[in-house]
Parts: sequence; C-alpha cells; structure tokens
Amino acid sequence: MQLADLDARFAELGALPQHRSRVLRHWLQAIPLTQGRKALEHFLPKALREALPGLMAEWQGLVSLHTREPAADGSERLLFTLKDGQSVEAVLLPQRDKAWGLCVSSQVGCAVGCGFCMTGTGGLIRQLSTGEILAQVAAARGLRAVNKVVFMGMGEPSHNLEAVLEAIQVLGTEGGIGHKSLVFSTVGDERAFERLASASVKPALALSLHTTRAALRQQLLPRAPRLSPQELVGRADAYGRASGYPVQYQWTLLAGVNDAEDDEIVALLGGRYGVLNLIPFNRVEGLPFERPEWEACRDMVRRLHQRGILTKLRDSAGQDVEGGCGQLRARIQAERPI
Ligand code: SF4
Repeated sequence: MQLADLDARFAELGALPQHRSRVLRHWLQAIPLTQGRKALEHFLPKALREALPGLMAEWQGLVSLHTREPAADGSERLLFTLKDGQSVEAVLLPQRDKAWGLCVSSQVGCAVGCGFCMTGTGGLIRQLSTGEILAQVAAARGLRAVNKVVFMGMGEPSHNLEAVLEAIQVLGTEGGIGHKSLVFSTVGDERAFERLASASVKPALALSLHTTRAALRQQLLPRAPRLSPQELVGRADAYGRASGYPVQYQWTLLAGVNDAEDDEIVALLGGRYGVLNLIPFNRVEGLPFERPEWEACRDMVRRLHQRGILTKLRDSAGQDVEGGCGQLRARIQAERPI
C-alpha cells in the first residue's frame, strides 16, 4: 500500500481528504473500531462506512506479530510477519513518563552490507510499502503508548525513500507524532538530504558515520554512497541547522578498528550542531569484530567531552534478546522457518 493507492480507494468510496485523515488517525492511533465507531461512522459517507471494517482488517493484516521478546533493559523486540511470509524486526524502547519509542524497519534485508550488521549479510530481499511501515507503528501502539518512531531497524531508509517519506508524512500528521520525535537514520545519500530539506514534515536526522576515515568507511559500509565523511557531516550539519534538530552521529564502536580516532573526531565534529552517539558493537557470531570493554568506551566519552564534543554512550537495545539488527529474525528463521 502506497499513499496513491490509498487515495484512489478513498476516492472510489466518495471520501474527502478529511475522511481519509480521520480513518487513518483511527488506525494509526490503534483505536479499536468498537471504540468511537459511532462518532467516526457518523462523519463518513455511506460507502466508506460500509467498507470501513474491511479496510481496517486489511491494514491491520499487513503485519502480524510473530514474536515478542522483552529484554532485561526494558526494551522489547518484536518480530512481524508480512503477508508474503517475509519478516521484519521492530524494537520498543522505554522512554520517560511511561511513553515508548519504536524502532521500525524500512526494508526486508539491506543492500548496504555493513560488515558489522547481521541484516547486511543477507543483502536486500525487498522494499517495504508505506502501509507495511505504518502497520508496524499501528501494531506496536496496540501494545504500548508509542510517541517516537526511529527508522533504525532493518534496511537503509534512503534506499526506500518514497515509502519512508510518505510514512513520515503520515506519522507526523494523522499519526500524531511530534516531528522531532521522528528520526530518519541513514548512511548518507545526496537524494535523501535534498528530499528531507523540502519535506513538509521534517524529521530529526541520524547519520551513521562510524569512522572519520574514508577508506575504512568504504570497507565497513561497502555499498554506501561514496561521500567522504567531511561531505556527509557538512550535509547533515546543514540539515540539522535548517530543521532545528541536532544531528545524531551514530558510531558503532569496534574494538581495535575505530576506537582510537579522537583527534580526527574533534577535527570533524568540533563546532557541529549535533551529538555523537557511541554504541559498543553487539557481538554477532560469524562476524569478525569484537566489542570494546565498557570502561574503555567510557574513557573515550570522557576524553571527547573534555575536548568539546558532546558525546553519549549508548547500548544497543535488547542485547540479551540478541538486540543487534537482524539477529532475532535470523535466529527465529533458523529455529522454525516462518
Ligand atoms: Fe543496512 Fe543498517 Fe545493517 Fe548497514 S547497519 S547493513 S545500513 S541495516
């Protein structure tokens, strides 16, 4: 389901934009049809009213919850099955005030092929539609009060740009999610920077940087666009300043690989409008990287802070349920093929 299909169906049912908006709000905010149905139906044209239960069932059926695994850190990993039997992961992340963030997938698999990521090892299987992205949010909202959505699950959002931008547009309007609570996470892509700059719902930006060294980055992210770290940070910084939301520079820390670049980090990120998130690698069987010691990571944070770089140490959520992207899906598929 892309938005154009949706519009065509609503038009066939004689619906106006405000009807579409109202129905989408009902679905995305996980309001059961039994609740508020009278008010909703009173507002809608007859043909749409009659088609409503079928439409809702169809959208809800875009994803079905296959597995829900809570972790000791409070996060919950969800595995959704899609209608064609493929599956994607999402992660519920506890926030302050009993609210939850949701990390969603934008593709089944991923073509970037990052050497430290389980999803990257299998390549791209297929794109998710706008509806399948939105359905992850609607389903998660049936479980928890989600008020933040980050596009950091399986897939590279800039490789499925139209669907992701449509989903962001809908989530920032009918979905009721604050624009700064929508996070577009990317390895960096010219087209994505351009489109985000002109979007009416502007999400916050997370840039997966991982190193300041162009050659090492090419090795770690073999099929990311060939923009140098300097170009990437320049583009991200311009977007961050224009949108008013500081850029989140993501850095997966790999022992002995990218954990000793203090001078280069200071040169690259000094004075930028953003925060550096250091995320110690979550060990994955079969991948040739090690997780650095936690104390060594804390030292790095302290050193960078002293040199004026706003740095945070983050753990990848749900480590004890194999929280690294794509690991739960891989394990479940190996144990009991979906
Ligand atoms: Fe793709 Fe992200 Fe995994 Fe890299 S880390 S392969 S961009 S899903």
